Amino acid sequence: MEYDNNNVFARILRKEIPATIVYEDEYALAFHDVFPKTPIHILVIPKGEFISFFDFSEKATFELMVGFTKAIHHVIKSFELQKDGFRILSNHGVHGGQEVPHYHVHIFGGRPLGRMISEQL
Ligand code: AMP
Repeated sequence: MEYDNNNVFARILRKEIPATIVYEDEYALAFHDVFPKTPIHILVIPKGEFISFFDFSEKATFELMVGFTKAIHHVIKSFELQKDGFRILSNHGVHGGQEVPHYHVHIFGGRPLGRMISEQL
């Protein structure tokens, strides 16, 4: 599968469409999810053409992997989510329910988050 340069997060990275940005550095951009599922719901995306975690973990440099992870840490800390807890999640493909084909990590917090996943096997 080819990276789609016109996916919505690629366009947010290029600042072609707006987002409520909460953090940015040379490795990553973080912004509020437009349809938040929890009181705090932030998306963190790497700067680069990566479709999902699977693609990123194959192709990204060690420097970008570390920088991206540190950016997630920075966002968690800036919202003080380490105090009461949070969840990070990333979807891939059809079974994962991925909607936007640019790698992103969801950060959920601000309330108890319930079970990890739906119970059905
Ligand atoms: P996923 O299903 O893991 O691909 O999640 C995609 C997420 O992107 C969903 O939670 C959407 O609400 C969110 N989303 C889609 N378009 C935008 C946008 N323009 N700005 C912020 N979040 C978005």
